[in-house]
Amino acid sequence: MSGAGASNAASGAQIAPLPPLSAVIARHDLKPKRSLGQHFLLDPGLCGKIAHASRPRTPAVILEVGPGPGGLTRALLAAGAARVVAVEKDRRCVAALGELAARYPDRLDVIEGDALAFDIATLGHARIGIVANLPYNVGTRLLLRWLERIERLDSMTLMFQKEVAARITATGGRDYGGLSVRVQWLCTCERLFDVGPRAFVPPPAVTSTVVRLVPRSVPLAPAEPDALDAVTRAAFGQRRKMLRRALRGLAPDPQALLQSAGIPPEARAETLSVAEFCALARAWSAMGQAEER
Ligand code: SAM
Repeated sequence: MSGAGASNAASGAQIAPLPPLSAVIARHDLKPKRSLGQHFLLDPGLCGKIAHASRPRTPAVILEVGPGPGGLTRALLAAGAARVVAVEKDRRCVAALGELAARYPDRLDVIEGDALAFDIATLGHARIGIVANLPYNVGTRLLLRWLERIERLDSMTLMFQKEVAARITATGGRDYGGLSVRVQWLCTCERLFDVGPRAFVPPPAVTSTVVRLVPRSVPLAPAEPDALDAVTRAAFGQRRKMLRRALRGLAPDPQALLQSAGIPPEARAETLSVAEFCALARAWSAMGQAEER
């Protein structure tokens, strides 16, 4: 990973306005790459709406993933973020952000690299706000990785494909699954607003949704993360079946497991609360199944 050049600051003389994003895109020939999930937001009003929703003055550091030509980055800085660290995989975008980095030498660092390989622990001890219009192909993986560092996070304000946002925030029904349980176990979740395809250049095939996740001070209920994963995987793996059947591959006596978790054996995965999944995970760990597998 390499830092982008951030040099001279505004020196008191009159500051020229930043060029429009369309000019930045043209000058740096940022022809969108599908492989990098590049759909750029050029509307300053919409970028400002996302930036304000992230409450950018609260965390000491904001990590922005995939700044692209910098629409959201500009909005975060304009909304008062003390420090933005922007991690971008596309070298062309890193170069295009040079002018913005030069304008905000003390508040913006642009890092060229893969966000999947970026360890947020390198940002120091301050609590971090993550803000991103995420590339669709890595959004969920990034979220799961950040959850592993939940104690470092102040909040996450993230744009996902609408269907993924529905899976994250569902509390039952067909969108409810392992991802919902994992996220809601650790965070409170709020769907903020949808963004239609025409807001992006180029327009994606799907609608997007901005979601705000705030880490709970303690997880919703006690559970071992691996045990929680195991029980949700088994339960949602056969989501239409009653749990006494769906959990057959997980435990030799699913009925006893469910009984010790206080869950009716006829219940189905889609009707269990996150707290009940935690009870199931605890019961499974207590039965020693975790070690036997
Ligand atoms: N934030 C910009 C905006 O709203 O206009 C761009 C958003 S675009 C949906 C996703 C951005 O993430 C692109 O700039 C892309 O190059 C970048 N990107 C894709 N995969 C990445 C990865 N693994 N690590 C860092 N950046 C990535």
